[in-house]
Amino acid sequence: MQQTIERPGGAAVRIPAGRLLIDGQWRDAIGSGRIAVVDPATEQQIAEIAAATAADVDLAVQAAHRTFESTLWQKMRPLDRGRLLEKLALLIERDAEELARLETLDNGKPYFVSKNVDMRFTVDALRYYGGWSSKMAGEYLTLSPFFDDGGTYRAYTERRPVGVVGGITPWNFPLGQAIQKIAPAIAFGCTVVLKPSEEASLTTLRLGELILEAGIPDGAINIVTGYGHEAGQALVDHSLVRKIAFTGSTVTGQKILAASAVQMKRVTLELGGKSPTIVLADADLDKAIPGAANAIFPNSGQVCTAGSRLFIEASIFDEVSKGVAAIADELKLGSGFDTETQLGPLISARQMERVSGLVASGMEEGAEPLSGGAREDRSGYFYRPTVLTGGRANMRISREEVFGPVVLAMPIHDVRQIKTLANDTVYGLGASIWTKDLNKAHLLASQIDAGTVWINTHNILDTAVPFGGAKLSGIGREFGSEAINAYTETRAVCMRLEAPEFG
Ligand code: NDP
Repeated sequence: MQQTIERPGGAAVRIPAGRLLIDGQWRDAIGSGRIAVVDPATEQQIAEIAAATAADVDLAVQAAHRTFESTLWQKMRPLDRGRLLEKLALLIERDAEELARLETLDNGKPYFVSKNVDMRFTVDALRYYGGWSSKMAGEYLTLSPFFDDGGTYRAYTERRPVGVVGGITPWNFPLGQAIQKIAPAIAFGCTVVLKPSEEASLTTLRLGELILEAGIPDGAINIVTGYGHEAGQALVDHSLVRKIAFTGSTVTGQKILAASAVQMKRVTLELGGKSPTIVLADADLDKAIPGAANAIFPNSGQVCTAGSRLFIEASIFDEVSKGVAAIADELKLGSGFDTETQLGPLISARQMERVSGLVASGMEEGAEPLSGGAREDRSGYFYRPTVLTGGRANMRISREEVFGPVVLAMPIHDVRQIKTLANDTVYGLGASIWTKDLNKAHLLASQIDAGTVWINTHNILDTAVPFGGAKLSGIGREFGSEAINAYTETRAVCMRLEAPEFG
């Protein structure tokens, strides 16, 4: 049953039915299990979604497999797969305001962010991958056989879709992450079973309605909501799933990698981070100070590339750390439907516990807050943007991913130590360097173990640019031309040619 919820400012948000999309049909979970959906800004339950079990996941995977093997799918022209993605992009554009309201309700982020960041990224990604559908090129190779049997040997390679893809997504950019898995899979000829985070599944369910409206063949994209340890695990373990595309925590990524080894599934893992923001003394501080604040606070710090370790050259340490703290103090927290709100709540009580616990441990170990350091005294999971100083490298707050609006500012006493400081983490996802000297910027960029290094900016993501992590931040790359490796296998076809009349 669908319902509509009213929010401040007259926003009416239609909630999609919390059912599973399997083989083009909406259905309830076989076990009738339900999961409560909580508005993180009010802590009130607003809806329920289905809790899929292994039996539901099996139905979804079987459907995806049937569609993958079908003549319809195998013979579909690549350009027509691209056209399906374009249709979906047009429908999302048409309903962008409705989808943005739903994202704000479910995830808590401000409406202007849902509309101008999440929806735009989603539509851009669909268009970007739509273009790739017709560009699955191979190579033509000349061979050098070590015998002469009168034949001429040649080979060509072609890209083949891996098959059924299991997409598992987190709650920080729910719709964007769903498209990040679906769009390349469809572009490169795979079919998909998607398991969104149980914390934020509503826009993915609304996307399911648009998938049907776009005329995407039944079974090509299936959506199973449910718990990670049950539905997610069943997807990872299913023998017909050939690839897992996962974004989430490093711990879950490690479990998925281990489980995937049994069937030698392909995996791409986009995991956690502890990204450094490095401000050198020659930086333009009018840009670097808001830049460092913007590296950590947007989306309430729930961004995998958030700049949560802020390294500042000692001569400008006070000016930069106090500048970032002053910005933090000014940020207005509140309902994402309030037009003045700049930061929404954390996603859940569990995330609040994690962020509060890590900050408390940092303070017990000697870190001091220049701003924030506590949750707001109100209902909703609102945590004050926090700048800590006095931290040391061996503290939990310096080493563990917080995934909240919390940054630890540390001085750089010797620039020759920057490489060591920046790389002193198990993660390697992002980093930014703030300086006017491009020599320093590029030489330093080459020394940092990170999938992405930004210069005089942070968190600029574009589907044209490969994205992924080094070390415990993940395996493989999404986006850009590298996405083709993630969703296809290379097949080599080798041939012997012989026609004496042609030599
Ligand atoms: P998880 O990694 O547990 O969740 C991410 C996704 O994986 C969700 O869909 C989850 O389902 C699913 N999942 C969980 N366990 C399994 C499993 N055994 N097999 C298959 N799928 C599974 O992240 P959390 O939501 O628990 O967040 C914890 C921490 O992870 C955060 O504090 C943050 O540090 C990090 N994180 C990083 C993200 C990133 O973008 N890199 C995004 C989100 C979190 P369900 O939600 O239903 O359990």
